[in-house]
Amino acid sequence: KTHNEIQDLKGTIRVFCRVRPSQPQENDKMLCNITYVDENTFEIKKSKESVNLISGKASDLKLEFNFDKVFPPEASQVEVFEELALLAQSALDGYHVCVFAYGQTGSGKTYTMQGEAGQRCMGIIPRTVDLIFRAINNLNRTGWSYVVEVSFLEIYNENIKDLLDKNNKEHLDIRFNDGKGTTVTNLTIKKVESSEEVKQLMESANRNRAVAATNFNEHSSRSHAVTKITLTGTNEEMQVCYAGSLSLVDLAGSESAKTSTSERITETKNINKSLSTLGTVLSALHNKESHIPYRNSKLTYLLQSSLGGNSKTLMFVNIAPFEECYGESVNALRFAAKVK
Ligand code: ADP
Ligand code: MG
Repeated sequence: KTHNEIQDLKGTIRVFCRVRPSQPQENDKMLCNITYVDENTFEIKKSKESVNLISGKASDLKLEFNFDKVFPPEASQVEVFEELALLAQSALDGYHVCVFAYGQTGSGKTYTMQGEAGQRCMGIIPRTVDLIFRAINNLNRTGWSYVVEVSFLEIYNENIKDLLDKNNKEHLDIRFNDGKGTTVTNLTIKKVESSEEVKQLMESANRNRAVAATNFNEHSSRSHAVTKITLTGTNEEMQVCYAGSLSLVDLAGSESAKTSTSERITETKNINKSLSTLGTVLSALHNKESHIPYRNSKLTYLLQSSLGGNSKTLMFVNIAPFEECYGESVNALRFAAKVK
């Protein structure tokens, strides 16, 4: 990596689109007509049959989107990670890096961020952790020493939960102070020495998250999961200290929920508010507006000191390949296209 390459990315927001493959058990579902024009452009179209039912004009419904990168269904976890390894590594140089996964439930957000069992299926979070520790081991030989700390939290219905606190006994609140930026009161922050240690903590965070929920899938689709890694590097000889961080966020499902109970309506309002605030904040940062409405949602308030300034942001818009998802896919694509 050259210094210039890193400098170029500073303060920018990049958007990647990833379309997940259809699984064997989903063979009966009709696929959307998607064309991968080049590595930045993709077109989505309703398939003929269903278009005819609505208007009869297929060409009217072809939409084109441009992103910094488009990953087709066959893109592997390795290929995806290659595109952001440099970004992840820049946290060692004192940058605040945020990576978001946005999209409807079932579109592949968790697969992208966490991944699944097996080396091949590892997602961005464990790959980032491996990369960071490998880099630190190399940097150790050149006089740098790093302190690595991790925390795992969830935002559900505008409440923050510490995923390393099994009993959930502490009340968590966000504070902002000029020196330290945003902090979360009572949040468990673990100092870690190896990538194995982080993965074990990640597993226990996942377990705690699952245990507390009556329906895990439903719960995880309605909450944001934030993994934060902070890196403090010092070089005694050069008398310098860098403090960078990575915030890796598996967002709540972007679908417009069909609600019934009043409890659900409040929940949905909170999800919509936090996702739309995130969109507003990112585009306000991108357009260098003077007022950035961080405090309109817990998520953006939490990330206030990691977004903007000395930061780099990447958003994945995850897409499920099915015809029945067309409406939600287009909503998600439009949202993502608007953040920059
Ligand atoms: P979300 O977190 O957005 O609700 P998931 O990550 O749980 O979605 O993905 C939904 C399903 O699709 C899961 O069964 C997952 O294993 C599968 N899946 C998602 N993305 C991929 C991919 N790129 N390759 C293979 N399977 C995937
Ligand atoms: Mg998920």
